[in-house]
Amino acid sequence: MTTPSDNIVIVGAGLFGAAAAVELRRRGHAIVLVDPGPLPRPESSSFDISKAVRADYGADELYTRLGELAIEGWHAWNEEQDRPLYHQTGFLVLSSTPMTDEGYEGASYRTLQRRGHAVRRLDGAGLRRLLPALSPGAWVDGYLNPGGGWVESGEVVRRLIDRARATGVEVREGARFEGLLESDAGVSGIRTADGGRIEGDRVIVAAGAWTPALLPWLADVMWPTGHPVFHLDPDRAAAHEVGAPVWAADIARTGWYGFPRNAAGIVKIANHGPGGRAAPTETNRAVDGESTAAFRRFLAAGLGSLKWDRIVGGRVCFYCDTWDGNFWIDRDPARPGLVVAAGGSGHGFKFAPLLGGIVADVVEGIDNEFAPRFAWRERGGLTGEDARQLE
Ligand SMILES: Cc1cc2nc3c(=O)[nH]c(=O)nc-3n(C[C@H](O)[C@H](O)[C@H](O)COP(=O)(O)OP(=O)(O)OC[C@H]3O[C@@H](n4cnc5c(N)ncnc54)[C@H](O)[C@@H]3O)c2cc1C
Repeated sequence: MTTPSDNIVIVGAGLFGAAAAVELRRRGHAIVLVDPGPLPRPESSSFDISKAVRADYGADELYTRLGELAIEGWHAWNEEQDRPLYHQTGFLVLSSTPMTDEGYEGASYRTLQRRGHAVRRLDGAGLRRLLPALSPGAWVDGYLNPGGGWVESGEVVRRLIDRARATGVEVREGARFEGLLESDAGVSGIRTADGGRIEGDRVIVAAGAWTPALLPWLADVMWPTGHPVFHLDPDRAAAHEVGAPVWAADIARTGWYGFPRNAAGIVKIANHGPGGRAAPTETNRAVDGESTAAFRRFLAAGLGSLKWDRIVGGRVCFYCDTWDGNFWIDRDPARPGLVVAAGGSGHGFKFAPLLGGIVADVVEGIDNEFAPRFAWRERGGLTGEDARQLE
């Protein structure tokens, strides 16, 4: 059982690790946060110009509720900042066929309507009024959820790490986890790549897509997958302006989703598809020709007025995919003292305002309504969250 002031070592200062560090420090624990850095680490999943925030999770009531609470949390976080990092531009769901209750789009619409959200159903013309870049006739049905939008993810993690430091978390930037300190009594700390040891009453491994490599007994239930991200600077006439909603285009079938222009004028489009299984390294980050060709085909068919030749950036970013698309936040049943907080499966960032609390509750053994979904579990058949294109 944790005491009010345990010494806790956290491996990984991405969103999961940094949010846990801030919350556990707020609850009185002494925290050492370890990450090779530089922080926020450019290769991390949490580092990017934007991440989508939605409560639109098909028929899945738990993630819908988690999304609702997260959006409230983002508004509260905005109040604490010198400028808003969460931009509630709305979430626009596009469907190339009439929505059905079985599909992600129709199921989300029904679930949100039943829960009292002001969702607005739109036909093709209505969708194009909100997103003039859409190809005429390509999208025939959909809806706008005014509750939702995007967040400046890299900046959020930067500020979380600053808050951790400011509240007394010892941030060991440059240190790299090499292995656990283990005895019959359980886990009592970590070894670092420079030959050092950091002892603690508990160890939390929150190393994102690197986690299954660091804890190989997890390799059967979670694995890294790479996903293409494109940054565009379309010409001003394309009207993909700052205020436009975040959109998802037949996302469970195509994987494609995109963002409005950010303050720097960049439009991000990415793919929430199966991705490619590979270990995340510093070098395998270039988007391959096949992904770029698929992107061009999508743009030409679905967002006809966006000029693809103005790709100004892109990279491969890694998910830590679990077999069922649910996060993995629990104590290791075979290793007392070890907690794993990973498995973001390409959809964890939006829940930042809640994640630190969920991890801290698991560490402290406090009941949490969401924790059972993220508990240690046997491997089953491959699935994913409702918006995820799996094949
Ligand atoms: C392309 C892409 C798009 C996404 N879009 C969205 C979205 O729109 N909305 C959304 O909600 N979510 C989205 N996600 C998911 C979200 O980004 C992740 O769920 C979340 O950021 C995962 O955070 P993390 O802390 O687990 O991992 P990371 O941010 O990757 O952090 C892991 C940290 O562990 C550190 N680490 C690695 N090895 C070691 C070691 N040996 N020792 C110490 N530290 C180590 C790394 O340096 C890194 O800082 C997306 C993810 C990707 C890849």
